[in-house]
Amino acid sequence: MIELIKTSARRIYTRTRIPGIDYVINQYVGCEHACTYCYAKFMCRWKKHGKWGSWIEAKMNAPELVKEIVNGKVAMSSVSDPYQPVEKKLELTRQVLENMDKHTRLDILTKSDLVLRDIDLFKEFKAINVGLTINTFKGREKELFEPNPPSNEARLRALRILKKNNIPTYGFISPVIPGLVDLEPLIAESRGFVDYYIVEMINMNAAGHEFKKLLVEDYPRNHEITANKEKFREFIEEVKKILGKSGTKAPQLITHYPKPIVV
Ligand code: SF4
Repeated sequence: MIELIKTSARRIYTRTRIPGIDYVINQYVGCEHACTYCYAKFMCRWKKHGKWGSWIEAKMNAPELVKEIVNGKVAMSSVSDPYQPVEKKLELTRQVLENMDKHTRLDILTKSDLVLRDIDLFKEFKAINVGLTINTFKGREKELFEPNPPSNEARLRALRILKKNNIPTYGFISPVIPGLVDLEPLIAESRGFVDYYIVEMINMNAAGHEFKKLLVEDYPRNHEITANKEKFREFIEEVKKILGKSGTKAPQLITHYPKPIVV
Protein backbone atom coordinates (compact mmCIF):
# COMPACT_ATOMS: atom_id res chain seq x y z
CA MET A 1 0.00 0.00 0.00
CA ILE A 2 1.45 3.34 -1.10
CA GLU A 3 1.00 6.39 1.09
CA LEU A 4 0.26 9.52 -0.94
CA ILE A 5 1.11 12.75 0.86
CA LYS A 6 -0.15 15.91 -0.83
CA THR A 7 2.09 18.91 -0.12
CA SER A 8 2.87 22.33 -1.52
CA ALA A 9 6.29 23.79 -2.25
CA ARG A 10 7.77 27.28 -2.27
CA ARG A 11 9.79 26.74 -5.45
CA ILE A 12 9.86 24.01 -8.06
CA TYR A 13 13.11 24.64 -9.97
CA THR A 14 16.17 23.59 -8.00
CA ARG A 15 19.74 24.31 -9.05
CA THR A 16 21.77 21.16 -9.67
CA ARG A 17 25.36 20.02 -10.21
CA ILE A 18 24.31 17.25 -12.61
CA PRO A 19 26.68 17.67 -15.61
CA GLY A 20 25.01 19.53 -18.48
CA ILE A 21 21.88 20.35 -16.44
CA ASP A 22 21.09 23.65 -14.70
CA TYR A 23 17.88 22.87 -12.81
CA VAL A 24 15.92 19.82 -11.69
CA ILE A 25 12.21 19.71 -11.20
CA ASN A 26 10.51 17.15 -8.94
CA GLN A 27 6.74 17.46 -8.79
CA TYR A 28 6.90 14.15 -6.92
CA VAL A 29 9.35 13.09 -4.24
CA GLY A 30 9.42 9.37 -3.63
CA CYS A 31 8.70 6.61 -6.10
CA GLU A 32 6.42 3.61 -6.07
CA HIS A 33 8.63 1.89 -8.64
CA ALA A 34 10.75 1.02 -5.58
CA CYS A 35 13.94 -0.01 -7.39
CA THR A 36 16.20 -1.54 -4.77
CA TYR A 37 19.34 0.19 -6.11
CA CYS A 38 17.62 3.62 -6.31
CA TYR A 39 20.07 6.44 -5.58
CA ALA A 40 17.25 8.73 -4.44
CA LYS A 41 16.46 6.67 -1.34
CA PHE A 42 18.73 9.05 0.61
CA MET A 43 15.58 11.23 0.70
CA CYS A 44 14.31 8.92 3.49
CA ARG A 45 16.81 10.62 5.81
CA TRP A 46 14.79 13.82 5.62
CA LYS A 47 11.33 12.52 4.82
CA LYS A 48 10.26 10.34 7.68
CA HIS A 49 7.45 8.52 5.87
CA GLY A 50 8.97 5.01 5.94
CA LYS A 51 10.82 2.72 3.54
CA TRP A 52 11.71 3.93 0.05
CA GLY A 53 8.98 2.89 -2.35
CA SER A 54 6.18 2.98 0.24
CA TRP A 55 5.34 6.70 -0.01
CA ILE A 56 5.08 9.56 -2.47
CA GLU A 57 4.90 13.26 -1.82
CA ALA A 58 3.01 15.14 -4.54
CA LYS A 59 3.59 18.89 -4.75
CA MET A 60 0.10 19.92 -5.70
CA ASN A 61 1.05 23.52 -6.53
CA ALA A 62 3.81 22.45 -8.95
CA PRO A 63 1.69 23.37 -12.02
CA GLU A 64 1.45 26.95 -10.70
CA LEU A 65 5.12 27.20 -9.67
CA VAL A 66 6.34 25.97 -13.01
CA LYS A 67 5.08 29.14 -14.68
CA GLU A 68 8.31 30.77 -13.48
CA ILE A 69 10.67 31.07 -16.46
CA VAL A 70 14.25 29.86 -15.93
CA ASN A 71 17.27 30.11 -18.20
CA GLY A 72 19.08 26.84 -18.62
CA LYS A 73 18.48 23.16 -19.10
CA VAL A 74 15.92 21.49 -16.86
CA ALA A 75 15.84 17.79 -15.94
CA MET A 76 12.64 16.05 -14.83
CA SER A 77 12.98 14.24 -12.32
CA SER A 78 15.89 13.46 -9.96
CA VAL A 79 14.24 11.97 -6.86
CA SER A 80 11.16 10.33 -8.37
CA ASP A 81 9.75 9.03 -11.62
CA PRO A 82 7.43 11.54 -13.31
CA TYR A 83 5.36 8.69 -14.78
CA GLN A 84 5.02 6.38 -11.79
CA PRO A 85 1.54 4.79 -11.46
CA VAL A 86 0.04 7.58 -9.29
CA GLU A 87 0.47 9.94 -12.25
CA LYS A 88 -2.21 8.09 -14.18
CA LYS A 89 -4.90 9.46 -11.86
CA LEU A 90 -3.27 12.61 -10.49
CA GLU A 91 -1.93 13.99 -13.81
CA LEU A 92 0.48 16.29 -11.99
CA THR A 93 3.25 15.79 -14.54
CA ARG A 94 0.81 16.49 -17.36
CA GLN A 95 -0.33 19.74 -15.72
CA VAL A 96 3.30 20.76 -15.16
CA LEU A 97 4.05 20.22 -18.84
CA GLU A 98 0.93 22.13 -19.86
CA ASN A 99 1.99 25.18 -17.86
CA MET A 100 5.72 25.12 -18.52
CA ASP A 101 7.22 27.63 -20.97
CA LYS A 102 7.58 25.66 -24.19
CA HIS A 103 10.99 27.24 -24.83
CA THR A 104 12.37 25.46 -21.78
CA ARG A 105 15.18 23.08 -22.71
CA LEU A 106 13.70 20.00 -21.07
CA ASP A 107 15.08 16.54 -20.42
CA ILE A 108 12.65 13.92 -19.15
CA LEU A 109 13.66 10.51 -17.78
CA THR A 110 11.29 7.72 -16.83
CA LYS A 111 10.93 3.96 -16.61
CA SER A 112 7.28 3.96 -17.63
CA ASP A 113 5.43 3.75 -20.94
CA LEU A 114 2.79 6.04 -19.39
CA VAL A 115 5.06 8.71 -20.91
CA LEU A 116 3.31 8.03 -24.23
CA ARG A 117 0.18 9.73 -22.93
CA ASP A 118 1.91 13.14 -23.16
CA ILE A 119 3.28 12.97 -26.72
CA ASP A 120 0.92 15.79 -27.71
CA LEU A 121 2.58 18.09 -25.14
CA PHE A 122 6.15 17.01 -25.98
CA LYS A 123 5.49 18.15 -29.55
CA GLU A 124 4.88 21.70 -28.29
CA PHE A 125 8.38 22.01 -26.76
CA LYS A 126 11.09 23.59 -28.91
CA ALA A 127 13.94 21.59 -27.32
CA ILE A 128 13.06 18.38 -25.53
CA ASN A 129 14.68 14.99 -25.02
CA VAL A 130 12.70 12.10 -23.63
CA GLY A 131 14.65 9.19 -22.19
CA LEU A 132 13.68 5.79 -20.90
CA THR A 133 15.86 3.81 -18.56
CA ILE A 134 16.57 0.49 -20.19
CA ASN A 135 18.62 -2.53 -19.16
CA THR A 136 18.30 -6.29 -19.50
CA PHE A 137 16.94 -7.31 -16.09
CA LYS A 138 14.43 -10.13 -16.49
CA GLY A 139 12.82 -12.74 -14.25
CA ARG A 140 14.53 -12.94 -10.86
CA GLU A 141 16.77 -9.88 -11.42
CA LYS A 142 13.82 -7.75 -12.49
CA GLU A 143 11.91 -8.78 -9.34
CA LEU A 144 14.90 -8.17 -7.09
CA PHE A 145 16.16 -4.91 -8.58
CA GLU A 146 13.13 -3.25 -10.19
CA PRO A 147 9.98 -4.81 -8.72
CA ASN A 148 7.40 -2.30 -9.93
CA PRO A 149 8.35 -0.46 -13.13
CA PRO A 150 7.03 -1.70 -16.49
CA SER A 151 9.10 -4.34 -18.29
CA ASN A 152 12.05 -3.46 -20.48
CA GLU A 153 10.02 -4.56 -23.49
CA ALA A 154 7.38 -1.93 -22.64
CA ARG A 155 10.08 0.74 -22.26
CA LEU A 156 11.70 -0.17 -25.59
CA ARG A 157 8.29 -0.05 -27.24
CA ALA A 158 7.73 3.39 -25.71
CA LEU A 159 11.02 4.64 -27.16
CA ARG A 160 10.04 3.27 -30.57
CA ILE A 161 6.67 5.07 -30.48
CA LEU A 162 8.22 8.34 -29.28
CA LYS A 163 10.69 8.21 -32.16
CA LYS A 164 7.90 7.49 -34.66
CA ASN A 165 6.29 10.68 -33.38
CA ASN A 166 9.52 12.62 -34.04
CA ILE A 167 10.30 13.16 -30.36
CA PRO A 168 14.09 13.23 -29.69
CA THR A 169 14.83 10.16 -27.58
CA TYR A 170 17.65 8.69 -25.56
CA GLY A 171 18.25 5.35 -23.93
CA PHE A 172 19.52 5.65 -20.38
CA ILE A 173 21.19 2.28 -19.88
CA SER A 174 21.39 1.94 -16.12
CA PRO A 175 22.48 0.60 -13.76
CA VAL A 176 25.19 -1.37 -15.53
CA ILE A 177 26.15 -4.15 -13.14
CA PRO A 178 28.99 -6.29 -14.55
CA GLY A 179 27.63 -9.54 -15.96
CA LEU A 180 24.00 -8.60 -15.35
CA VAL A 181 23.35 -6.12 -18.16
CA ASP A 182 23.98 -7.35 -21.67
CA LEU A 183 24.92 -4.16 -23.51
CA GLU A 184 25.56 -5.38 -27.04
CA PRO A 185 22.16 -6.98 -27.72
CA LEU A 186 20.40 -4.10 -25.93
CA ILE A 187 22.10 -1.55 -28.19
CA ALA A 188 21.50 -3.67 -31.28
CA GLU A 189 17.79 -3.84 -30.44
CA SER A 190 17.33 -0.15 -29.63
CA ARG A 191 19.73 1.91 -31.75
CA GLY A 192 17.18 2.31 -34.54
CA PHE A 193 14.95 4.47 -32.36
CA VAL A 194 17.23 6.31 -29.93
CA ASP A 195 19.24 9.41 -30.82
CA TYR A 196 21.90 8.72 -28.21
CA TYR A 197 22.72 6.70 -25.11
CA ILE A 198 23.75 7.62 -21.63
CA VAL A 199 25.26 4.60 -19.94
CA GLU A 200 25.64 4.62 -16.20
CA MET A 201 27.63 2.12 -14.18
CA ILE A 202 26.15 1.04 -10.86
CA ASN A 203 26.97 3.47 -8.06
CA MET A 204 27.42 1.11 -5.13
CA ASN A 205 27.73 3.92 -2.60
CA ALA A 206 24.45 5.55 -3.58
CA ALA A 207 22.68 2.18 -3.98
CA GLY A 208 23.07 1.66 -0.24
CA HIS A 209 23.84 -1.03 2.26
CA GLU A 210 20.84 -3.30 1.60
CA PHE A 211 21.51 -3.43 -2.13
CA LYS A 212 25.18 -4.16 -1.54
CA LYS A 213 24.21 -7.02 0.79
CA LEU A 214 21.86 -8.41 -1.85
CA LEU A 215 24.59 -8.32 -4.49
CA VAL A 216 27.25 -9.80 -2.18
CA GLU A 217 24.98 -12.68 -1.14
CA ASP A 218 23.21 -13.47 -4.42
CA TYR A 219 25.65 -12.28 -7.08
CA PRO A 220 29.11 -12.49 -5.45
CA ARG A 221 31.10 -12.72 -8.71
CA ASN A 222 29.32 -9.71 -10.17
CA HIS A 223 29.82 -7.77 -6.97
CA GLU A 224 33.50 -8.66 -6.86
CA ILE A 225 34.10 -6.77 -10.12
CA THR A 226 32.44 -3.62 -8.77
CA ALA A 227 34.56 -3.84 -5.59
CA ASN A 228 37.92 -4.41 -7.25
CA LYS A 229 39.50 -1.27 -8.71
CA GLU A 230 41.53 -3.11 -11.36
CA LYS A 231 38.71 -5.42 -12.50
CA PHE A 232 36.25 -2.55 -12.58
CA ARG A 233 38.60 -0.45 -14.75
CA GLU A 234 38.96 -3.39 -17.15
CA PHE A 235 35.19 -3.70 -17.28
CA ILE A 236 34.82 0.04 -18.01
CA GLU A 237 37.26 -0.35 -20.92
CA GLU A 238 35.10 -3.18 -22.34
CA VAL A 239 32.00 -0.98 -22.02
CA LYS A 240 33.78 1.88 -23.80
CA LYS A 241 34.62 -0.43 -26.72
CA ILE A 242 31.00 -1.54 -27.01
CA LEU A 243 29.79 2.07 -26.92
CA GLY A 244 32.31 3.05 -29.57
CA LYS A 245 30.51 0.67 -31.94
CA SER A 246 27.00 1.82 -31.02
CA GLY A 247 26.57 3.86 -34.20
CA THR A 248 24.65 6.65 -32.43
CA LYS A 249 25.87 10.13 -31.66
CA ALA A 250 28.55 10.27 -28.91
CA PRO A 251 27.35 8.02 -26.10
CA GLN A 252 28.10 9.27 -22.60
CA LEU A 253 29.47 6.95 -19.97
CA ILE A 254 28.98 7.82 -16.32
CA THR A 255 30.98 5.92 -13.80
CA HIS A 256 31.15 6.55 -10.08
CA TYR A 257 34.19 4.53 -9.05
CA PRO A 258 36.85 5.24 -7.91
CA LYS A 259 35.62 8.81 -8.45
CA PRO A 260 32.89 10.28 -10.65
CA ILE A 261 33.89 10.45 -14.31
CA VAL A 262 31.75 11.39 -17.29
CA VAL A 263 33.41 10.06 -20.44
S1 SF4 B 1 12.17 4.60 -11.10
FE1 SF4 B 1 13.94 5.86 -10.64
S2 SF4 B 1 13.32 7.15 -8.93
FE2 SF4 B 1 11.86 5.48 -9.06
S3 SF4 B 1 12.65 3.95 -7.60
FE3 SF4 B 1 13.42 3.44 -9.65
S4 SF4 B 1 15.44 4.41 -9.78
FE4 SF4 B 1 14.32 5.37 -8.07
